[in-house]
Amino acid sequence: MNLLALPAFSDNYIWMLHDGRQAIVVDPGEPAPVERALDAHGLALAGILVTHHHADHVGGLAALRPRLQGPVYGPAREDIPQPCTPLNGGDHVELMGCRFEVIDVPGHTAGHIAYFHTPANGDAPILFCGDTLFSGGCGRLFEGTPAQMHTSLSALAALPGNTRVCCAHEYTLSNLKFANTVEPLNEDLQAYTSKCEALRAQGLYTLPSSIAVERSVNPFMRCAQPDVVKAALAHGAASDSEVEVLAALREWKNNFR
Ligand code: ZN
Ligand code: FE
Repeated sequence: MNLLALPAFSDNYIWMLHDGRQAIVVDPGEPAPVERALDAHGLALAGILVTHHHADHVGGLAALRPRLQGPVYGPAREDIPQPCTPLNGGDHVELMGCRFEVIDVPGHTAGHIAYFHTPANGDAPILFCGDTLFSGGCGRLFEGTPAQMHTSLSALAALPGNTRVCCAHEYTLSNLKFANTVEPLNEDLQAYTSKCEALRAQGLYTLPSSIAVERSVNPFMRCAQPDVVKAALAHGAASDSEVEVLAALREWKNNFR
């Protein structure tokens, strides 16, 4: 299977998984990048996975429907503006011979789901996490609570370290700027920041990331680390509990430039 990030809008990625004949895409916010990739590689569109209801993730569904030869899957607890088969955490689906496990990850939106796939051939697992987990950060809490986001990120942090983390936005450098303010002494974070700056300077993508990297650099996955707790307490955290630390980090980041 080939994994491609198709850039869309100003900083979205539409992820495509294809086997040379068929493809699936995740969160097609607009149709043109998908149509171009299908045409360039001579692929049929075998299915679509949707993580949440925001327009930059579902805006291309209607225009892609004439080319679609399979199902659209989406979160059961959200209104998706096109027909789709509803999924809940714990469900699994099969597409192109790939099994995707559905994980509930509320927080950014109330019914947000993620898709996790372990290739049978031993390749690293793949996570499509929408706007829940970004490299070095997490989604804004538009419809959920800090407690929900903490539970969601904890579930993702428990996946295998080599899991390829396919986020829906290229927010990495701005997230890392914030992460370095929270944890200025984290050497893994410093090394990862240099690597990502070099990639962006060459016009390359920083994604996919990995779960192991996120565990070592992402402050929102590090709410029990003493330096993260200390920084959060200095920025309004009500206590040193992981949920209160995450809540304070999220507020701080919302106003961080
Ligand atoms: Zn979103
Ligand atoms: Fe988005």
